[in-house]
Amino acid sequence: NKISKEELEEVINEFQYEGKLVFIKPYGSGHINDTFLLKYEIGYMGSLNVILQRMNREIFEKPVELMENVIGVTEHLKKKIVEMGGDPERETLNLIPAKNGKKYVIDSQGEYWRSYIYITDATSYDKVEKPEDFYESAVAFGKFQGLLSDYPAESLHDTIRGFHDTKARFLAFQNAVEKDICGRKASVKKEIEFVLEHEKLTTVFDTLIRKGEIPLRVTHNDTKLNNVMIDDKTGKGLCVIDLDTIMPGLAMNDFGDSIRFGASTAAEDEIDLTKVSCDMNLYEIYLRGFLKGCNGKLTSKEMELLPFGAKVMTFECGMRFLTDYLEGDHYFKIHRENHNLDRCRTQFKLVEDMENKWEIMQKITEKYRRMYKQEKSDYFG
Ligand code: ADP
Ligand code: MG
Ligand code: MG
Repeated sequence: NKISKEELEEVINEFQYEGKLVFIKPYGSGHINDTFLLKYEIGYMGSLNVILQRMNREIFEKPVELMENVIGVTEHLKKKIVEMGGDPERETLNLIPAKNGKKYVIDSQGEYWRSYIYITDATSYDKVEKPEDFYESAVAFGKFQGLLSDYPAESLHDTIRGFHDTKARFLAFQNAVEKDICGRKASVKKEIEFVLEHEKLTTVFDTLIRKGEIPLRVTHNDTKLNNVMIDDKTGKGLCVIDLDTIMPGLAMNDFGDSIRFGASTAAEDEIDLTKVSCDMNLYEIYLRGFLKGCNGKLTSKEMELLPFGAKVMTFECGMRFLTDYLEGDHYFKIHRENHNLDRCRTQFKLVEDMENKWEIMQKITEKYRRMYKQEKSDYFG
């Protein structure tokens, strides 16, 4: 459903913007929301840019709950950043209120909109071009984790139900195998076997949570490079954006998903599996950045479990691709035949590779965990 000029005008009129609107244009390369950049001229003072977003109602069915999450988390971050002498207008997202005082607008079509102060002199990069970018995103997501370590995670709403409920994902997989509605089961015996052999991975975190051995955290759940603004001047990670998927979860999930995607030597849908492996150098780079960002806020147990998080997230993702393949590709968009199967295979190849490198991964992790415990955050300076 396209956005008309009238709809935009209606919405813009509902927000507390000041000055004269000079332009409005579609913005960024996000795939979820419809994002616009607006520029306002304010007297002789200069100008103010703002981001205006129509939220994706297909994916997020409870926009009000979602906005409660965003408001709670950004206010907490703002307080922390001010305490630390940072710049609360650049280091976290700032919602611009509507004229009715709410932090969002519902238009006459029933669509939900929100608006943020535009973060200037910073860029969101779509592709990792150099390891430093990957490192900076790790620091930013780690810092996000650290600053929110005293936020009551259980008060957050699940914006997507069962998002990282690995056990539930496994049940969905079993169901897909059983029904086999596309008759594809016979062609993926090996992959199904792989999932069954790894079933245990689906319950380990659950058990640890239940025993109270690992804490529930605020997780971001979309820790891609382009959800971090990198400061144009300093090249440092400045601000984590795209907070739609913040939910209660595990620190290991955010970490693990970043490794799954960012430390792989090949694309997620690479056909030549010999090209697919988990790069230990990139693993170490991300780990170092993440722990620096966390600034001592992870427990020793959580740090120990980081490689396991990488394995579980990768396994879960592969299992989801396989489930979707069995069910006829209705969740993940495909661009060629067997696309989801190809994706599933890269993920399982990665899991295998991590298993082969398990000792190395643990050794690297242990090295930083020790340093971290001994010398706290300054070590990483
Ligand atoms: P999506 O869920 O669609 O990815 P995002 O919230 O990530 O939506 O926004 C899409 C893009 O818009 C981002 O990648 C970034 O380039 C830009 N953007 C979003 N918020 C801001 C902001 N406050 N300041 C500057 N750019 C922003
Ligand atoms: Mg985004
Ligand atoms: Mg998003």
